[in-house]
Amino acid sequence: MMTDERFDVVVIGGGPGGTRTAAGVSRQGLSTLILEKREKIGYPVRCAEAIGPAEEITRYIDVKKPFVSSVIDGIVIVSPDGKKYRKAMKGIGYIVDRELFDLHLAETACSNGSVLRTGHQVTGLLRKDGKVTGVNVLELSTGREYRVQSKVTVGSDGVESLSTRWAGLKGPSRVDEVFSCAQYLVEGMDLPDRYVEFHLSSTFAPGGYGWVFPKGNGSANVGVGINPAQAAGLTATDYLEKFMARVCPKGDRKRFVAGGTLASDSLSSLTVDGFVTVGEAANQNNPFTGGGILNAIMAGDMAATAICDCFEKGDFSSGELSAYTDEWCRSEGRMNKRYYLAGKVFYSLDDRTMEKALSVLSTKKGLFTRNGLGAAKLLGVLFRYSPSLLVKIAMKAVAARKRSGKTMSESNR
Ligand SMILES: Cc1cc2nc3c(=O)[nH]c(=O)nc-3n(C[C@H](O)[C@H](O)[C@H](O)COP(=O)(O)OP(=O)(O)OC[C@H]3O[C@@H](n4cnc5c(N)ncnc54)[C@H](O)[C@@H]3O)c2cc1C
Repeated sequence: MMTDERFDVVVIGGGPGGTRTAAGVSRQGLSTLILEKREKIGYPVRCAEAIGPAEEITRYIDVKKPFVSSVIDGIVIVSPDGKKYRKAMKGIGYIVDRELFDLHLAETACSNGSVLRTGHQVTGLLRKDGKVTGVNVLELSTGREYRVQSKVTVGSDGVESLSTRWAGLKGPSRVDEVFSCAQYLVEGMDLPDRYVEFHLSSTFAPGGYGWVFPKGNGSANVGVGINPAQAAGLTATDYLEKFMARVCPKGDRKRFVAGGTLASDSLSSLTVDGFVTVGEAANQNNPFTGGGILNAIMAGDMAATAICDCFEKGDFSSGELSAYTDEWCRSEGRMNKRYYLAGKVFYSLDDRTMEKALSVLSTKKGLFTRNGLGAAKLLGVLFRYSPSLLVKIAMKAVAARKRSGKTMSESNR
């Protein structure tokens, strides 16, 4: 029988969350293995490739690299009645080339000493005395199965994450808390001003929005994200056709993308003994927009710091690793709670109410700043339109948090 391989840290998934965590821990000298089931990092792309706000991004990434396709200079919100709300914000964000971007993050992790294996799928977690102690792996090209032992396992397997479920940190995603997305890369468009466009209408994006994100040279990612529970039996691809007819009937369609992104509430804990979850696997993307690249990177840095501290102490218990949960909840997690509530109300508005809400929102100073979308201001306006719904959702969220908090602390005892 083959002996198990051993690494200090094993990372499940080679997306931004996983590779950033790997880069952080391997920089501190920890032996690190990244296992990615796809053959190629960043491919196929399943993303609209927008990142922002720029001031946050530049704290984490060197944006002079070739993976930046275009700069974002403003935002347009298009109301269901076609009214446009424009806000110029020069250099507020970037459209990246996800293939190159993800590859760059993976190369950084490898240059810090991480080992990367693509085409290797994690099929389960190893456990001893209730602690996670590594992973079972399937090499997809050969069918070979093997085991990797680790002191800490990082579940960064994205929207389809099983690892976070195996660890007992979450259940299946709710169908009404997922944006089901479809997108074309379109060429031959007239987009002179490099503004990202968000289009709201139940006609082509029930429970979500349509987007046009310019990538430069007349090309753009044009897509829709819908709430499947409001889709009346149609798919995101069906709605994309309606949206294409509206915004670029003559555009030259290139790459097609389909996928999901979460609009879920935050998890109350991100760790169990020997395991942390990072990125979209951990519901850490913004539940209002679905965007999760920067969040995964931020979380990766926080997780890496907590993991390295645990190696210094020689203690890999959930209690020690949970410095990461605390850090996340204090910062981005706190904002995501507000975005979650805001999204629940915003995307349940009918078109006429949405039009009114947008006209009020457009007059709010400080709603869009160089730090991004102000969640508290957004909630303030939405409260006016649906106070009962907002209170109901807030109470549900508090009750759920209490329940899961109890479960977690009981299971961590
Ligand atoms: C259509 C669409 C448009 C989007 N647009 C934007 C946008 O414009 N801006 C933005 O910020 N975000 C966007 N997102 C969301 C964004 O892509 C994710 O939030 C982000 O990639 C999360 O990073 P991650 O590292 O957590 O997960 P991922 O990038 O999904 O990486 C997870 C990796 O784990 C691998 N994996 C899964 N299971 C296993 C396994 N068992 N074993 C080994 N490997 C495994 C997967 O193959 C994948 O490579 C969009 C998503 C979609 C679907």
